[in-house]
Amino acid sequence: MAKRAILQPALGLSPRIFVRWKSTARPFSTVLDTPVQAPQQSTPPFKSTFENAVAATSPRTNWTREEISEIYHTPLIELTYASATVHRRFHNPTAIQMCTLMNIKTGGCSEDCSYCAQSSRYNTGLKASKIVNVDSVLEAARIAKENGSSRFCMGAAWRDMRGRKTNLKNIKEMVKGVRALGMEACVTLGMIDAEQAKELKDAGLTAYNHNVDTSREHYPSIITTRTYDERLATINNVQQAGIHVCTGGILGLGEKSEDHVGLIHTVASLPAHPESFPVNALVPIKGTPLGESKAISFDAILRTIATARLVLPTTIIRLAAGRHTMREEKQMMCFMAGANAVFTGEKMLTTACNGWEEDKAMFEKWGLRPMESHETLQGQEELIQEDTESTPALRQLQARSQQAQVSV
Ligand code: SF4
Repeated sequence: MAKRAILQPALGLSPRIFVRWKSTARPFSTVLDTPVQAPQQSTPPFKSTFENAVAATSPRTNWTREEISEIYHTPLIELTYASATVHRRFHNPTAIQMCTLMNIKTGGCSEDCSYCAQSSRYNTGLKASKIVNVDSVLEAARIAKENGSSRFCMGAAWRDMRGRKTNLKNIKEMVKGVRALGMEACVTLGMIDAEQAKELKDAGLTAYNHNVDTSREHYPSIITTRTYDERLATINNVQQAGIHVCTGGILGLGEKSEDHVGLIHTVASLPAHPESFPVNALVPIKGTPLGESKAISFDAILRTIATARLVLPTTIIRLAAGRHTMREEKQMMCFMAGANAVFTGEKMLTTACNGWEEDKAMFEKWGLRPMESHETLQGQEELIQEDTESTPALRQLQARSQQAQVSV
């Protein structure tokens, strides 16, 4: 009745006419006598960038800088918990890759990298030397293997490999020898072209290191003798040749937190994520333009590692230069947040390095073990849980991620 009372004036019908109209109503439904049901909405519940990163089951290369910034600025306690969760999905958290980095050609480099002891432009007291012989490299690799290293990296202080045919031939012998020991072989030789990359691939090279160092914006204040794009061109040559890419950065070069975001964004936007992302903390070298720099804060290192773990879930994150300045507890926080490789041995290029014995004792105490050579990322897929929605850790994170983002 209430409906009729509303409809009658609106239709301009007298009560009598209205009754007649009702009696002759069509036997099928009309808009007037059957309310239209709104179609069921099946919009999935909104998930924040952070929630999506935590729920990831595969890497993605279409990250925006804003998305990475959002993750980077998540409260650190939540960020590290999230990165630890993702780390356990993609990696075995007890396995740490031990690498030894040997300088096969020291000093005399023509580049002007403001942090580097090996640049001939700065008076750092370092004596330049020629490339070492193949036998001494293989002996060093053998010792590294005996001590638990599964990856042997060889670095030469060169701008590029142009006109270094004999050196390249010797380096290929080194690569073959290291691989014959059952170790992964990595080199860092400056810029290389597509042909040189192919030669190194044919020799069995596992990975090529070429750091982008920092964000594109901050880069020109650190290096002027080669451009960011030249660095990316070498990385592209390496990727095209089918060699794993190892590329990361140095923290503490006078950059801002957004430069850490920019650094991660650069490597996350490569056609494929790098196999390895080294995170270095500047070791100030007297005589270089950055020789008096203040140490980067530990929370910035931890935040960068945790963000990198969320953005580059399958990549090995390498705690590199500057680790020897960290107390054991700080190193452990980095491992919990997603770092899973270290440089270990007597020296790391020209800077100090945590020794094998020290690392073995730390691993023993904290339940870590050296990663085996065969434990590549491709072997980790079974660790990825199919139904990440059901993990209690993820549910807790989703509930908490409504918290406001904070600025760092
Ligand atoms: S290119 Fe490498 S060796 Fe040369 S100055 Fe730069 S960091 Fe040092």
